[in-house]
Amino acid sequence: MPIYEYYCESCKKVSSFLLMRASEEIRPYCKNCKSPEVRRILSRVAVIKSEEKRMESLLDPSKFSDLDENDPRSVERMMKRMGRELGDELGEGFEEEMEETLSSPGAAIEEDL
Ligand SMILES: [Zn+2]
Repeated sequence: MPIYEYYCESCKKVSSFLLMRASEEIRPYCKNCKSPEVRRILSRVAVIKSEEKRMESLLDPSKFSDLDENDPRSVERMMKRMGRELGDELGEGFEEEMEETLSSPGAAIEEDL
């Protein structure tokens, strides 16, 4: 669940907004003085969330269209492609995670629908 934090320019307080749904619109304001003059703070949560969003887009079903899970070469090709898109930011453990994801087809993709 994304949490957005806003810093109030007038009273210097931080207001947090919790979004129940990713598609929900947010109208930030200061919960202390009701001022709309707030600016977004990039909290650690937000950074992690954006990383997750990137993973979601990488797990777009259309990108699996040429994937044959029973063909190790096909899986390997797909993983290399994803590895290129992500760079080495995910570091070690990524390939293992991918293998787990691929061994339960559909699970990771459909979870957020
Ligand atoms: Zn305020």
